[in-house]
Amino acid sequence: MRHGRSLRRGSLRTENDHLRAELIFPSRYLARKDRSLIRQGPDQLSWRSVARITHAIVPSLLTSHIFARAAAMAGMGRMKMMATQTTGISAAERQVREELAACYRIVARYGLSDLIYNHITARVPGSDEHLLINPFGVLYEEISASSLIKIDLAGDVIAPSSVSGLGVNRAGYVIHSAVHGARPDVACVIHTHTRAGCAVAAMQEGLLPLSQTALRFYGRIGYHDFEGPATELAERERLIVNLGSHDALILRHHGLLTCGRTIGEAFHLMQRLDAACQIQVAAMAGHPMLPSAESQTRTSEMLASGARAPGIPASGRIEWAALVRQQDRIDQSYKH
Ligand SMILES: [Zn+2]
Repeated sequence: MRHGRSLRRGSLRTENDHLRAELIFPSRYLARKDRSLIRQGPDQLSWRSVARITHAIVPSLLTSHIFARAAAMAGMGRMKMMATQTTGISAAERQVREELAACYRIVARYGLSDLIYNHITARVPGSDEHLLINPFGVLYEEISASSLIKIDLAGDVIAPSSVSGLGVNRAGYVIHSAVHGARPDVACVIHTHTRAGCAVAAMQEGLLPLSQTALRFYGRIGYHDFEGPATELAERERLIVNLGSHDALILRHHGLLTCGRTIGEAFHLMQRLDAACQIQVAAMAGHPMLPSAESQTRTSEMLASGARAPGIPASGRIEWAALVRQQDRIDQSYKH
């Protein structure tokens, strides 16, 4: 590019812009046409080209970036983005969408996700029994506010994902809609398949009161027997009976489930329950001993949700606020 030359509208404006484009857009990710555009020089690289390339490979810049990148990585090059849905979404729903998307990212970061499987659901504010759930086929780390699907308790889609062509996994809908339908106090349900959770779910004795972390759930956790993948609606009745009024459930030979009055509480419970399972699995390698019955009861009562001392914030509130701050420092693309 010659210095002092006035560039036509729509081209990269400086040599620095060109250099930056090459740094940002590694050629191995680019289509042949885009690579040739860059080689021809900045005058040929219009902003439209930049937008297309960015759309394909740079996750943090555009609304749809992560799905295009995920599609490329998964060999799903035809995954097509729809425009971000902005109509018909209240401010309250928007807030829940962002918070739930953050929860997916945080669950992934804490190692609690299982490829594209499992679900976290949140109730949409309002009188309608609507839930937000992840599209089946997307990693937790890729979830954003607009990619979540809105469904009703019957599993019908009320608002699709911004990722076209992806629907809801039936097993997820069966389990989560059962809890939301039976427990109006529950705003969020998290279900996981972690190794430690599945290991404890396979133990005859279930979750043992081996640690202070586990004692939070002592006498306050349900068990649901394994019936195969949860695709039958009839299982929902048995599942909610087994959950009862608890906020945690061990799905035998399957995994863990927690529910909370807020998204933060549901996450906090899941993180603590999974930690308790990890501790138990580690302790079982030796000869674990239980604390005294008196200390078990006392600790359990102190740590129970809603039983915190006056002045102590509700379960999960300050922990969740800290986690969202951490997520915002790392990547805020979940808000799109
Ligand atoms: Zn499952």
